[in-house]
Amino acid sequence: MKLSDLTLTTPYLELDPIFYHESAPTSLKNPRLVSLNPAAAELLGLAPEELSSAETVALLNGQSQLNGSRFYAMCYAGHQFGHYVPRLGDGRAINLGKANGWNLQLKGSGQTLYSRQGDGRAVLRSSIREYLMSEAMDGLGIATSRALAIITSDEKVARERWEKGSIVLRLAPSWIRFGSFEYFFHANRHAELEKLADFLIRESFPELVGAEEPYLKMFAEIVRRTAELIAQWQSVGFNHGVMNTDNMSAIGITIDYGPFAFMDTFESGYICNHTDTYGRYSYDSQPGIGLWNLQRLALALSPLIPQDKLEAELERYAPCFTTKLLELLRAKLGLDEAQESDGDLFRSLFAMMENAQIDMTPFFRTLSRYDGKRSALLSLALSPDPLNAWLDRYDARLSLNTSSTDERHVRMLRTNPKYVLKNHILQEAITRAENEDFTLVNDLLRIARDPYGEHESFERYALPTPPSLNNLKLSCSS
Ligand code: AMP
Ligand code: MG
Repeated sequence: MKLSDLTLTTPYLELDPIFYHESAPTSLKNPRLVSLNPAAAELLGLAPEELSSAETVALLNGQSQLNGSRFYAMCYAGHQFGHYVPRLGDGRAINLGKANGWNLQLKGSGQTLYSRQGDGRAVLRSSIREYLMSEAMDGLGIATSRALAIITSDEKVARERWEKGSIVLRLAPSWIRFGSFEYFFHANRHAELEKLADFLIRESFPELVGAEEPYLKMFAEIVRRTAELIAQWQSVGFNHGVMNTDNMSAIGITIDYGPFAFMDTFESGYICNHTDTYGRYSYDSQPGIGLWNLQRLALALSPLIPQDKLEAELERYAPCFTTKLLELLRAKLGLDEAQESDGDLFRSLFAMMENAQIDMTPFFRTLSRYDGKRSALLSLALSPDPLNAWLDRYDARLSLNTSSTDERHVRMLRTNPKYVLKNHILQEAITRAENEDFTLVNDLLRIARDPYGEHESFERYALPTPPSLNNLKLSCSS
């Protein structure tokens, strides 16, 4: 299908006008295509080879409108770093409507009713990060928003320095956030709160339409999905950086990529967001913050669900998280069947990685070929003793496996990525793109889509991060 044949629907606009504000994009000066993602085009039913650069640019720059499309921004609230802000909303995002189950949204397309003091823009740097990372997370099998394309421009946008204005067209099955519910609860608008829950159920939990206690079941599902999502983040060393309730998806997918990071050297207290002075969103705080955010959502849903039932669901969060994390770690270590002592083995693994200052991703990848010979692994550790001690335990545990070493290697190589888009890798692509060379953005897109594959000319990105670039902190400005 061609772009001109694509017809959007706008079910969200069937809600009352209080839920959104219709506002049109403001175009960027001299826009040009940075990258188009064929995998996302296919999600919409579009044939990537039929998508011309000119029509893609016109779409992202708000200069052409798809059939059935209407421009609107959604309202929401949220707890930012623990403090409630009653009105946030799409301050720089404009929705276009929906196709094939995906809600299309432009990010960086100018001011809306919800922009507050913001300019409604996004810079090339942060747009490349969002574009590539959402595709990388999907490549790793982690639930996420997606991205169709990205444009840059000659529009000057003021951040710490002047940067180029950019727009990403991103996609999600739903853009409703925990903060969307908080908006109506704290404004004491319980009728609208119920309408929003009904809408979310219709759109994203259709199996609950007509069920008994649908709101409770919806909340239970959000708890489960959030717990499992954060377990996945932990398993690959992903640090979101800004887990405010407005950045928490009500359908349990990763959204709103900002100062995120894939951890380099394992460091349990790693903080990727420069403005997060006290580490509220540090790596080891993420699971607890997931629960704190769910508690805020539970409060917002309290007019619809009895308190004791909400609390019972919140109780399920920790066991659900732990069960999922254990399952993921077992797979990462190639263990066949669960053993009582696995929790200890994993705890000692993380302590060892921290003591021996090991870069997480190359470590698990190298471990995926471990056959008793330790030299390749030892070369990744700053100090050999903790690693040798842990490998003794691992050897003992592997002796309980029933599958062969070869089978284990095959499974582990499909579980432990060779490539994750660490910040220094993204930065290389950004620096080049700022000089109008978009080749590395497109190369990284291919790697992001296939993180378990071998990409011969990019071996250097699979190596441990150079110490001068290790676990950097990122600015929140975007
Ligand atoms: P974020 O930290 O990116 O999740 O953004 C928090 C809130 O600020 C959201 O409501 C955004 O829409 C809004 N926002 C962030 N940057 C801008 C900007 N440059 N212009 C307008 N609104 C913005
Ligand atoms: Mg946000």
